Amino acid sequence: MRYVLDTSALFAMQDLPPGEVFVTAGVIAELRKYEDPRLRFWEDMLHVSSPSPASLDKVRKAASRTGDDARLSPTDMEVLALAIDLKAELLTDDYSIQNLARVMGVRYRGVGMKEIKEVVRWKYRCTGCRKEWDENYPDCPICGSPLRSSRSRK
Ligand SMILES: [Zn+2]
Repeated sequence: MRYVLDTSALFAMQDLPPGEVFVTAGVIAELRKYEDPRLRFWEDMLHVSSPSPASLDKVRKAASRTGDDARLSPTDMEVLALAIDLKAELLTDDYSIQNLARVMGVRYRGVGMKEIKEVVRWKYRCTGCRKEWDENYPDCPICGSPLRSSRSRK
């Protein structure tokens, strides 16, 4: 699986997706600018590539039609054009890029949204008898010891 990532996607993710991950030189420059420490770990795994002038031209024209051109940086447009060239899925949390991707029929996915959809439930574990409770009681109904909360994913 091939992915093209923009800066917003890289900022939002903990791990790179499995597969081939492409960025543009502009994305690397933005990560450097913000001194993102993850760049050090990721740099060897990121393929840096440039879009073809033809795809970039298509993106520019589509952006001026939708009115997204004012909100998109040259790097944003390059990322989208690269996704077209590579027939790759575009990962971005930028609303304007997503909008243009939709208009141009480019597959895309948000990254940060996933965190919100993930349901986190709290569990309460007794510090005495270790029983786990779904509700937070003032103390353990079995042995009377204090409960401690812990996150559990469901
Ligand atoms: Zn207990």
